Amino acid sequence: GSSNDYIHIVMVPFMAHGHLIPFLALAKQIHHQTGFNIAIANTPLNIQYLRSTLRGNPIPGIHFLELQFNSSDHGLPPNTENTENLSLDLIGKFFASSVYLKTPFYNLLKDIVKKQCTPPLCVIADVFFGWAVDVANSLNTINIAFSTGGAYGTLAYVSLWTNLPHRRTDNAEFNVPGFPDRCKFHVSQLHEFLRKADGTDLWSKFMQPQILSSFKSFGWLCNTVEEIEPFGLDLLRKYIKSPVWSIGPLLPKSWLINSSAPASVRQHAGKEPGTSPKKCVQWLDMHSDDSVLYISFGSQNTISPSQMMELATGLEKAGKPFVWVIRPPLGFDLKTEFKPEWLPEGFEARMSRNNQGLLVKNWAPQLEILSHRSTGAFLSHCGWNSTMESLSQGVKIIGWPLVAEQAYNSKMLVEEMGVAVELTRGVRSSISSDKVKEVIEMVMGKEGKGRDMKRKAQEIAEHIMAAVKDEGNEKGSSIKALDDFVSTITKARK
Ligand code: UDP
Repeated sequence: GSSNDYIHIVMVPFMAHGHLIPFLALAKQIHHQTGFNIAIANTPLNIQYLRSTLRGNPIPGIHFLELQFNSSDHGLPPNTENTENLSLDLIGKFFASSVYLKTPFYNLLKDIVKKQCTPPLCVIADVFFGWAVDVANSLNTINIAFSTGGAYGTLAYVSLWTNLPHRRTDNAEFNVPGFPDRCKFHVSQLHEFLRKADGTDLWSKFMQPQILSSFKSFGWLCNTVEEIEPFGLDLLRKYIKSPVWSIGPLLPKSWLINSSAPASVRQHAGKEPGTSPKKCVQWLDMHSDDSVLYISFGSQNTISPSQMMELATGLEKAGKPFVWVIRPPLGFDLKTEFKPEWLPEGFEARMSRNNQGLLVKNWAPQLEILSHRSTGAFLSHCGWNSTMESLSQGVKIIGWPLVAEQAYNSKMLVEEMGVAVELTRGVRSSISSDKVKEVIEMVMGKEGKGRDMKRKAQEIAEHIMAAVKDEGNEKGSSIKALDDFVSTITKARK
């Protein structure tokens, strides 16, 4: 075909919300900086989701290509094409089934190579898709692994999975390969999948070969910023022994630059907000600067019924204004309607009567909330997207990590950045309403620890803003890193 149809880069994200969205943002950023044509390959349902996020705003240089995948072939419910609404036991199966994308991806890439008579510059594949290294190499191109997490969290996660087992019964702290002695980890930071893993279980049989193969990529891209994670990036580079370009944060530029610009430019894949962005903003408008606590556990997690009760009681005791994205607790179908009995009696009515709390069912306009002047802190599961969104607005964090690498993100935010305090970990911990009250008061406080955290969060926000600056000769580190990435792969392919 003509050079206009040439696909420069083919991307293949893991099938989860927190991966699809940063991949699309990466595609947009590369296209914006280079004019490259980019194809994103995924299963039909996820392609539909991705397209819907561009609604009204399709980008000519970004193409979507379908990979056939039949979830029923893998013992999964029909139409299971992402982690949405999957129970924990099925999530393992779902991860395992994703390796079956290798053949359709090979065929898709082979077709592209045939059509344009030359391979694309590179493949950018999710770190969970180590199989893409083989595919790329066999068709004479290179693979770049993209980690949608931060540097520190990614390293902890890949190191823990590839250095099994972690069968600890003691309560002692331990070291993790890749981290210096001073960074002690604790058994409570290991998700039960990781604690039980020994190389023979479903999870390690997926994780180990995929991650080890991703180590053989030509290089890695990381959704972080050089100036805010110098320590984590240094460790990650030493550990994987290949270049790592930090090109984050992959967030809507208009929102980063002007926080009062409507952030709904970023429609979320198939998600309907429980309350309109306008109503959330109006509610926040009633409150004073930095006075509101925003609470959310990400796109797919929830806490246990007893934790939900204690959190609600603690919020009421603390008496501070809050916006809480709430969904059914653990053990209930996340799609079912929210039942008032999951909260203390009369809670929602009391909170709404005195304007103390706004409960948003399932899904909130998170960017609008985080950039509102009233939002002072974020009680977060420390998913990396939420973390970057919060930090880019200088909003300090109360950590409640649940799964994946969230405990390591939380640890980094507390120990390295000093912008967070961890309230608790996981869904099994017992957390008292008094502890909730105490931590909220400390973090939301305008003196002492609360003030220090705020100052540090604002410094981080300034670094983030500087990193994405792109005005004439003034280029921030993330913009330069992406330029360098592109020129490096272009040279490598000559
Ligand atoms: N999000 C949102 N509204 C919600 C909950 C989440 O817009 O009510 C968005 C949030 O802004 C972030 C993403 O969903 O971009 C969650 O990603 P993260 O990495 O924080 O967590 P994950 O969902 O992967 O656990």
